[in-house]
Amino acid sequence: MAAPEHVRAALTARTRGGPPLCAYVYDTAALRRRATQVRAAFPPGTTMLYAVKANGHPDVVRALAGVCDGLEVASGGELRLALAAGARRVVFGGPGKTDAELAAARQAGALLNVESEHELRRVAADRAPAGQPVAIRVNRAAAAPVGSHAMTGTPTPFGVDEAHLPDLLELAGRLGVPVAGFHLHAVSNSLDAAGYARFVTDALAWSRSVAARHGVDLRLVNVGGGLGVDYRGAATIDLADLGRRLHGAALPGVELIVEPGRVLAADAGWYAAQVLDLKTTHGRTFAVLRGGTHHFRLPAAWGYSHPFSVLPVDRWPYPWPRPQVAATTVDAVGELCTPRDVLARDVPVARLRLGDVLIFGRAGAYGWDISHHDFLRHDPPEFIVL
Ligand SMILES: *Cc1c(COP(=O)(O)O)cnc(C)c1O
Repeated sequence: MAAPEHVRAALTARTRGGPPLCAYVYDTAALRRRATQVRAAFPPGTTMLYAVKANGHPDVVRALAGVCDGLEVASGGELRLALAAGARRVVFGGPGKTDAELAAARQAGALLNVESEHELRRVAADRAPAGQPVAIRVNRAAAAPVGSHAMTGTPTPFGVDEAHLPDLLELAGRLGVPVAGFHLHAVSNSLDAAGYARFVTDALAWSRSVAARHGVDLRLVNVGGGLGVDYRGAATIDLADLGRRLHGAALPGVELIVEPGRVLAADAGWYAAQVLDLKTTHGRTFAVLRGGTHHFRLPAAWGYSHPFSVLPVDRWPYPWPRPQVAATTVDAVGELCTPRDVLARDVPVARLRLGDVLIFGRAGAYGWDISHHDFLRHDPPEFIVL
């Protein structure tokens, strides 16, 4: 899928001189459009938070803070980012919170997702005598919907095992920490709207029955994020279908909270890198990029080839013939001195010239943010915010 014209134009403008192009492009209008679509997939009144870890660029966070009801954070650094972005509401989660982070969350008025007994005791000590309500993150016995990673129904460091929940709720009562509800984030990158809808409906029903059994005054159910995009193709979880399936799913008097990251940010970002060299060794053709997995680690981390389109660049500043290949397949590799620095393999190209630019779409979530920037100390990419 080619990048939109305004993205191509912004990149082309940067190939007319200066160092080889290496850039992330983030489109704030695309962020806002997607936020509207995602909101429509949940029942009216749902609280939609953006999970900052998907993309913590301050302009991205500010754009999404403006159109979402708040932000979900999982570290002291993300909390500071969220406050600087003017978040209306903050939810603080994560399996390893320090005392300083718990205190900062309290001062910010953030809703805490408590993930263990030790954490509950520290919250009680920090908030005594009167506490703000918390949510308990639960690793349910039920399996998560199908996606790239499952967070519940399986051993993980996240949340409290459902089997230990009765003891934890009893302890919360003794410690005087009010429990407002449950956090049930279960899956990453799910493309199955029917499965995701069943998960949400089931999360609400389960929360209501557990709350009734243990005397919890249920105020909120947070189902987390996990709405997916298919990096190898054009598919996104069917938001319209999800909306139909979740019609009327809300429980009266119980706030439904969702925390999408990937589905909000993925399609508002592009990673672009100019071809620095083009060579064939032992029968395989490599396009060596100004950039690589130290900027965009996702395909290497997940073990797939990330699709790209070619942005032709006519400028050729050298007096010798320009290397090029036609009607062949290439591997798109980075500038790092490791054979693992691969963004895509065996991709057919009609024509590719040294100096053309490869544009990788769907790079707005878990792109720059999960990458090992300092390995080999190359200059970072430019960040172009539209
Ligand atoms: C990562 C994460 C999210 C966002 O997940 P996506 O798959 O990007 O939608 C939401 N909530 C929690 C607790 C997370 O850890």
